[in-house]
Amino acid sequence: MTHRDVIAAPRRWALWAQRPRVTAYCLLSELLAVAATIVWWRVAPPTGGDVAMACALAGLGVLQAELGRTVERVRRRVSAAAHINMTSVWTMAGVLLLPPVLTAALTVVLYTHLAVRSWYRLQRVPLFRTVNNACVIILTCHCAAATLTALGTPTLPAAIATGAAGTANTLLALAVYFTVNALLVLPARTTVGSTPVELFGGWPDNALEVATLCLGTLNALALATQPGLALLILPPLLILHRAVLVRQLEAAVNRDAKTGTFSLAGWHTLAERALAHAERTSTGFGVLMVDLDHFKQVNDTHGHLTGDLVLHATAAAITDAVRADDAVGRFGGEEFVVLLPHTSTTDLAIVAERIRRAVTELTVHTDDGTRIDTLSVSIGTALYPTAGTDVQRLIRAADQALYRAKDTGRNRVVHTTAPSTP
Ligand code: GH3
Ligand code: MG
Ligand code: MG
Repeated sequence: MTHRDVIAAPRRWALWAQRPRVTAYCLLSELLAVAATIVWWRVAPPTGGDVAMACALAGLGVLQAELGRTVERVRRRVSAAAHINMTSVWTMAGVLLLPPVLTAALTVVLYTHLAVRSWYRLQRVPLFRTVNNACVIILTCHCAAATLTALGTPTLPAAIATGAAGTANTLLALAVYFTVNALLVLPARTTVGSTPVELFGGWPDNALEVATLCLGTLNALALATQPGLALLILPPLLILHRAVLVRQLEAAVNRDAKTGTFSLAGWHTLAERALAHAERTSTGFGVLMVDLDHFKQVNDTHGHLTGDLVLHATAAAITDAVRADDAVGRFGGEEFVVLLPHTSTTDLAIVAERIRRAVTELTVHTDDGTRIDTLSVSIGTALYPTAGTDVQRLIRAADQALYRAKDTGRNRVVHTTAPSTP
């Protein structure tokens, strides 16, 4: 949807296609953000000096976003936590320096600029999410500002005047900002899963959020005392942005985008680690090779998009059938590898059978109402050290067992009993 479509056809907004709970949540947060901003306008009306400060913050924020535009586009493409970005440096400074109504205006300016210049045409970033994220930031800022007002130090100059107590209040506002922001995005994020990483974002995203809040506080300190020095925030900020991107790219390399399982590279790293551990402790670990039966027919009958849906559902079924410590990876195409640390021959057989059964019980519903419930997998197993003493040999052994499973009728598990033949 282009921006013209967005304006011309409100009925086609992606917002309405979300689960009712998500749509309601977005509308509610937008309503609350607007209502709270109006209340603040009456409680703490801005002065001319405040407007000048807001313009300075907006100018710095736009300058930083322009200088870091390429980095932000790539980062946003690989990041799971869409609500976390660099804007907190400016909005946190806004909380400490501006009346809340101007912090809200600052947020609108920064998000509009990012949406138009950095996030446009990124599939992961529908407009309603950007609007919702901006509203969540506005509500977050209002909560942090309310904390400061309640503590008697509504702005940073007032906090500076009260010494150590002012420092404590400022730190508390920072903590409130971080916590409220993480909690307010929860209702939207439950659509993508329920693990802590899926709900709150990974370590790099959260570290970025804390770092930007710290820089935002120092930024406010500079602006309140020596405004010219606020420019010094830009170089470390740009380096931080790039450093976070590198960390996120590393994490992305280890994941398979289509199925959410480990990529082969990521899985190999874990398998080598499991091997080293098994050698050290003289314990066993298992490798499963899992291949969807007659998957080509799914593609041929229903198309590749439905094929992708089936791949994703199969990966989820395999992941659900194993323990949290086990690692499911995509070997390629419609083949998965599973690493089972600390596993005996009996456990290996039980887990493989559980996966086989889980896939036969799987029903995949497509958007056009098609129901696919005739899926099955063939599985080959290999156990360290009986089937091989390095990862490559174990994979080869499991693969050979998988081929025997295919040859003997599919939808079955075949175990390696002797070392693989080279
Ligand atoms: P078998 O039971 O012998 O495993 O038969 P099969 O049809 O599953 O195996 P075959 O190797 O003949 O075909 C695998 C198919 O998987 C062919 C390929 O187009 C499809 N495939 C591979 N990767 C993807 C993908 O990422 N998405 C989709 N939709 N299909 C894929
Ligand atoms: Mg297959
Ligand atoms: Mg195959």
